[in-house]
Amino acid sequence: MKPDPVIEALLSTLAADPGNHPVRVHVARLLLDAGSPADALTHATTVLAAEPDNLAALRVAAAAAGATGDAAKAASYGRLADALAPEPATPEPPAAALAAGVPDTADEILQQWQTSPAAAEPEIGALGAAGITLEDVGGLAEVKKRLNLSFLAPLRNPELRVRFGKSLRGGLLLWGPPGCGKTLIARALAGELGASFYEIGLSDVLDMWIGSSERNLRGIFDTARRNRPCLLFFDEMDALGQKRSNLRAGGVSMRGVVNQMLAELDGASTDNEGVFVLAASNHPWDIDSALLRPGRFDRTILVPPPDLAAREAILRFHLRGRPTERLNLAKIAKATEGMSGADLGLLCEQGTETAMDASMTTGQFQPITQQHLEEAARSVRPSIGEWLEVARNYALYGNDAGAYDELAAYLKKRRR
Ligand code: ADP
Repeated sequence: MKPDPVIEALLSTLAADPGNHPVRVHVARLLLDAGSPADALTHATTVLAAEPDNLAALRVAAAAAGATGDAAKAASYGRLADALAPEPATPEPPAAALAAGVPDTADEILQQWQTSPAAAEPEIGALGAAGITLEDVGGLAEVKKRLNLSFLAPLRNPELRVRFGKSLRGGLLLWGPPGCGKTLIARALAGELGASFYEIGLSDVLDMWIGSSERNLRGIFDTARRNRPCLLFFDEMDALGQKRSNLRAGGVSMRGVVNQMLAELDGASTDNEGVFVLAASNHPWDIDSALLRPGRFDRTILVPPPDLAAREAILRFHLRGRPTERLNLAKIAKATEGMSGADLGLLCEQGTETAMDASMTTGQFQPITQQHLEEAARSVRPSIGEWLEVARNYALYGNDAGAYDELAAYLKKRRR
């Protein structure tokens, strides 16, 4: 894709004036229209981190998340936008439809209660069984080795831990480009520990902020403690734990969230035994350093761009349940070096659209073919370069504390 001069100009305006939210929302919208939903989403969430009630940013975030294939995220941003600007009331449903929803027998009442949202314990986020282990994560051998050494082994060897005086306090931060398996790995770690998986996204926290209700971080930690062993996973930590200096004056409540998070993690009075706290971030350099001190998110692991095996697994994941001919995904994985998981998701979306178009024009059902995907692979622009560029600067110039050593090693290996 050719660089769009309008977008380029607006991006340089933003470089000089990063807090200009109206321009950032506009850029996000243009990027979305230009077929770069992942970039659009990054800009929209940057605005939301500072202005959680920015309706325009929420709408763009919803559309962009949808376009990257993340339906769950799209729905939650959409819900938030609707909550802020409700659609005009819909007409009353006909009486018959209402009657159908009224339970009659005890069984029906029980069933309706069990499936009602009120019965599910967490009001925020999603709590459930992990369902997978590290074996389900494709490739990334180095990452798995590190996770075993720094996270799983100390948990599994309490005696050794005591002898070496190693504490289990503190959380683990997984960081790296978007769509490359951070959430999947967190879920797999819960599976390895036989713990339930409790995921909190940015939209849950924004929800909390907008509603300023009782549902707060304390409630989240309490739910996790009631369900231990439990792995509590905070997605998009950069936005949640924004450097307090980045928050605009009006963002006091977000600052409150950061402080409350610190209190929960430190929690001398609270018993966090059996609660494992993990977080993920695409740009850890935006996280308030108070959250990265010892006892907090003090261990960090880079989840790098996907290697060959990981790319094949990601492609397989995005094509699951879709009609395809026999595919040689290894070949596509080979041709997509340098793409992030999000890019591969987009590639599969484009391949699917081509197959649907072909079905509609010919009037005959056409499954997704190798050729559709190979064409898509040629047209998707890998977004990882920009991420690596920013990350590289931090590895080169902001690595005083050694926080980016893993990235420096990765870049050296790739000789960037
Ligand atoms: P992140 O949290 O880094 O943004 P996710 O973990 O949500 O990314 O990954 C997006 C999707 O891609 C996941 O649902 C997962 O199924 C798939 N995926 C990503 N990395 C891998 C991998 N290494 N092996 C298998 N599937 C993967």
